[in-house]
Formats: sequence, structure tokens, C-alpha cells
Amino acid sequence: MTAKLNCAIIGAGIAGASAAYALLMRGANVQLFEQYDLRHDRGSSHGPTRLFRLAYFEHPDYVPLLRQAISLWRAMESEAPEKLFHQIGVFMIGAPNGNLIKGMRRGAFEHDITIEDLTRQEAAKRYPHFRQPDGYDAVFEPEAGFIRADRVLNHLFAKITEMGGTIRPRTNVTDWSVSDKCVELATKDGRETFDRLIITPGAWGNDLLRLDVPIKPLRKTLFWIAPGDKSYLFGSNFPPFAIDREDGRFFYGFPAIDGDGVKLGEHTGGTVLESATDPTQPPPDEAAGVKEFLREIMPDAPQDFSNAKQCLYETSPDSHFIIDAHPRDKRVCFAAGLSGHGFKFAPVIGEALADLAINGETQSAFDFLGVGRFGSP
Ligand SMILES: Cc1cc2nc3c(=O)[nH]c(=O)nc-3n(C[C@H](O)[C@H](O)[C@H](O)COP(=O)(O)OP(=O)(O)OC[C@H]3O[C@@H](n4cnc5c(N)ncnc54)[C@H](O)[C@@H]3O)c2cc1C
Repeated sequence: MTAKLNCAIIGAGIAGASAAYALLMRGANVQLFEQYDLRHDRGSSHGPTRLFRLAYFEHPDYVPLLRQAISLWRAMESEAPEKLFHQIGVFMIGAPNGNLIKGMRRGAFEHDITIEDLTRQEAAKRYPHFRQPDGYDAVFEPEAGFIRADRVLNHLFAKITEMGGTIRPRTNVTDWSVSDKCVELATKDGRETFDRLIITPGAWGNDLLRLDVPIKPLRKTLFWIAPGDKSYLFGSNFPPFAIDREDGRFFYGFPAIDGDGVKLGEHTGGTVLESATDPTQPPPDEAAGVKEFLREIMPDAPQDFSNAKQCLYETSPDSHFIIDAHPRDKRVCFAAGLSGHGFKFAPVIGEALADLAINGETQSAFDFLGVGRFGSP
């Protein structure tokens, strides 16, 4: 009987919120613990937007999971009060042998995904905001797009509460242990017992998971430029984009939405922190790379930033997710090391965690993300 399972989830970022929703849909009791306020801006899941790409350059084995994610995003959107998933395509430029273009072509070929190769003239006509460097290819992926991250979190928290789940903000879980009978958590409120535990710790993974697989907190800065003119607004022909430079640096951005400017970030680079809560590091000069990108690729756009915010990646040793039952005990499972590209998978990660919690295993499409690939942790 799964309906009466008492499940604790540590971490109310997108992974934990998605797992809570999936478990509640299956009739479990859920308590979702979060050390800070909900929607806080110290982790990985805050902010307005995240890219969705299907022809996945990171590894083609993600594509079946992304196809499931598309269905689940649409299902989520159908019950949400606002639009969550804009499948409007993503414009990409890069060296033909660089990770992005080579990897997405491989993913598209292996999984029969439509991508449109654009000549220089076609790209310049369709997307005049971008200056394509010599020797770079331009590709448009129509099934890609972007997700409204903050709206998704709002929707999930509302659903979790509506479905009878308990959300416990400002409740740091300081310890967990397993015994024959239960899983036990320690918080400021004392010790509490559950049937199952899901850990979705973001950049705090090393403390909580106790695996011999380091999760590196990597701080990133995001920048906004004022929209300039109306042609940068969402709904015009300014697309979500990804640019892979010949030197390996990878930039991405979104059209201006909700009164904010155009959002820009560098996926590569960043500042490695000793710990996710390390307040002592001076702000890095991450602006320089994005400024250079603007000058070279978007020279007609406003070159001054109107805003900047920080966010953490939680990077696994190979930059691929780690989603599995915990080696110590199958009643504990986790999703960690989402490595700066996990948001688009959130509903399918939630389902996988619910499978692992309830059945002790999930679909084989997740096998390549198991913790066993790092040896015996
Ligand atoms: C700048 C930036 C841009 C990105 N762009 C994209 C993109 O375009 N597309 C994409 O798919 N992905 C993107 N990502 C990645 C994606 O956002 C992350 O993979 C995802 O948000 C990770 O979610 P999470 O729930 O694992 O981690 P988090 O959101 O960090 O959540 C973990 C939570 O656990 C809590 N916690 C930790 N320890 C404890 C404890 N002991 N007790 C209680 N609570 C605890 C933390 O406070 C935190 O709230 C981006 C990430 C960043 C930072």
C-alpha cells in the first residue's frame, strides 16, 4: 500500500517541489523541508526563466527523458493559472566542431529531432540582433524554448498545499539516519520519523548526501540589459538563444519579459565556492566575459547592464545528474549534481524520485545517471 507512505523531502528547490508533487499525486503523505524561505535566491531554482532544449548536446541519452518532460510540462501547464512553457524554438550559433553544434546535431540525428540549419544570410535576416562570427554555424531548434521558472515554483507550492502536503520553510535538516523501522530526521523541532526520505539538496549536497562524490558549488552571475527597443521584447522576433564560442565559452539569453530586460548568462566559467553558504568570497568579475560577448555577438544591443543577480550551480564530477537510491539504504533516494542544466527535466526527475521512494527503482532511462558510475561511493 503506497497511499499511506510518510515521505520527507529535504530541499524545496525545483527538484524537491517536483518530487513532492509527484508523490502527492500517488497518494503519499509529504513533508517538504526547506532551510530558508520558499523561493529564496541563494540556491539554483529562482529567477524568471530557464532554457529548454531537446537535441541535447550534453548527452543524447537525456533525449528520452526530455520527451517525457515535454508531456509533463504540458500537463502541468494545463492545470496552472499561467503559461509555464513557451515552446517557441531556440536560436543557436557555434563552431561546427564545438560542443553545442556537434552535440545537438548528434542528438537530433540519433533521436530524429527536427533542427533547421540556417545559412548566414537566412540567420541574419531572421535574427538581425546577432552577429555571426566567421566560420560559425547557425541552427534553429523549433521544439526548444523556455520555462517560466518562478511561475512553475509558485504553481507547485500552491498544488502541494492544496493536495495536503506540508511545506516547512526555515527548517534546516541537520541530520538523517536509518533504522530497521524508519528514516529519522533531525531539525530544530527535534527528531521526526518517516517511511522514506528524498534528498534534493542543490549545492548543499556534500553535507547532506555523505557520498564520496564531490558536488561543487559554482557561483554564477546573471545580467540584464535594458530592452533597447521593442524588437527585444518577448513576442517580437528576438529569440531565446545559446552561443558556443570557439574558445569554449558558452553564453545564453532570453527575450525581455515581464518588464525586465534581456537576460544574459555564461554557462561556462563561474566561481567555485568552498561551501554553498560561503559569504566570504568577493564578487567575481564575471561581467567582463558577458560584456565581451555583447560587443562581439550583439553589438547593436544596449551594452550596459541594468541588473545583475547571482545563482548557484551544483556541479557533479562529470556535469551529469546523479539520481538514484542512496547506497546506504533504498528507503533514501536523491537527485543531486544537476550541474546547471536540470530545470527543464524537473517533472520527470520528480516522477523518478517518486518511483525510487515508492518502489525502490525507476525506469531504465535513468540508469546512465546512477551513482554507481563513480565507483562504490
Ligand atoms: C544561473 C542559472 C541558470 C540556469 N539555467 C538553466 C537553464 O537554462 N535550463 C535548465 O534546464 N537549467 C538551468 N539551470 C539549472 C537549474 O536551475 C538547476 O539544475 C535546478 O534549479 C536545481 O534545482 P535543485 O532543486 O536541485 O536545487 P536548489 O534549487 O538549490 O534547491 C535545493 C534546496 O535545498 C535546500 N536545502 C539544502 N540543504 C538543506 C537542509 N539541510 N535542510 C533544508 N533544506 C536544505 C536549499 O536551501 C535549496 O532551497 C540554471 C541554474 C542557474 C543557477
